[in-house]
Amino acid sequence: MGEWRVPEINLEICTRCGACVEECPAGAVEMGPDGPFIARPGDCTYCAQCETICPQGAITVAYEIVWGV
Ligand code: SF4
Ligand code: SF4
Repeated sequence: MGEWRVPEINLEICTRCGACVEECPAGAVEMGPDGPFIARPGDCTYCAQCETICPQGAITVAYEIVWGV
């Protein structure tokens, strides 16, 4: 299998509020010493809930987007 594409967390603007850890329905996010991280990328379903609930807008869920020209 190929590599996992996981949500990116921008720790520069993250306030460590913990909302993403609590709200991830897959339990894929954990809080580490440096901030939240995707501890179980294989469990992430790309539901984008973390991106939606993050008050800082620090999470970006990457999709494979092909722009039509
Ligand atoms: S919800 Fe956003 S600000 Fe809060 S811990 Fe997660 S990434 Fe950081
Ligand atoms: S996209 Fe969904 S499953 Fe993946 S880390 Fe965010 S909340 Fe969890």
